[in-house]
Amino acid sequence: MTVRDVEFIFLGTGTSSGVPVIGCTCPTCTSTDPRDRRLRCGAAIRVTDPDGLPRTIFIDIPPDHREQSLRHGLDRCDGLFITHAHVDHVYGLDEVRRYNALMRAPIGVHAEPEVTEALHRIFQHIYARQNNRNDSFVADLFDVVLEPLQPVFLHGLRFTPVRLLHGRLPILGFRIDAVDSAGVPLEEQPDPLPLAWCTDVSSVPPESWEPLGGLKTLVLDMLRDRAHPTHMTFDEAISVAETLDPTRTFFIHMSHDSTHQQLLQRMPPGMAPAWDGLILGLGTNSHL
Ligand SMILES: [Zn+2]
Ligand SMILES: [Zn+2]
Ligand SMILES: [Zn+2]
Repeated sequence: MTVRDVEFIFLGTGTSSGVPVIGCTCPTCTSTDPRDRRLRCGAAIRVTDPDGLPRTIFIDIPPDHREQSLRHGLDRCDGLFITHAHVDHVYGLDEVRRYNALMRAPIGVHAEPEVTEALHRIFQHIYARQNNRNDSFVADLFDVVLEPLQPVFLHGLRFTPVRLLHGRLPILGFRIDAVDSAGVPLEEQPDPLPLAWCTDVSSVPPESWEPLGGLKTLVLDMLRDRAHPTHMTFDEAISVAETLDPTRTFFIHMSHDSTHQQLLQRMPPGMAPAWDGLILGLGTNSHL
């Protein structure tokens, strides 16, 4: 058996402040279109694994994770992949303790060594639990070391970490393929795979172009029109998507500079801004 019932959920699609921005009265922040409410970036992939068991794996764990999880009725975590340790991508780590309680199992946090170090520093109450004054209900985690292009096999899926540049900070994107029992990618990939999640990127280094080729779905950072040192602009993101040439592209990490509708109107064929609650694969609500 191979993985089936693949469902990819965009839990959050906004930039670090979220949209609406606190105290802002701009047209996007005051829009009544639900697609203009963007929580911080994260995703879940839900599957039935080759043994017939339900699995849920998260990419990043933003401060909005609790709200995101409740919206989609998520009740387990079979692995967590971290792109980088910025606040908007990891400050929901506390929330996974509920999955520990529900599953009675520890959770693997897949990250590069510098990211793991940062998590240990930030979340001392989790990682140095013995120092807590009172024994408290904290997450039960274990570290899994990631290296670019060294794939991790989990529940019928292959996660390939791909190097991206977030300004001067090297971070990871993740390519996800369905694989057979020998770890070889299936010739017929279930929709929306192969998929790559590339958040917080200002440039794709040369060694990462090939691993991001042949995608069904590309998810890519697209902050706004004005230049930014650590994120792609509208034009930069479109250009990268055109070069990688996936079947379809969704953009994430969007600021309040544009409404969903404004962005959508400017998109080339096969591309669209994502929104919180977008689902690909099983039960998709996308027209792309
Ligand atoms: Zn970010
Ligand atoms: Zn605003
Ligand atoms: Zn970042």
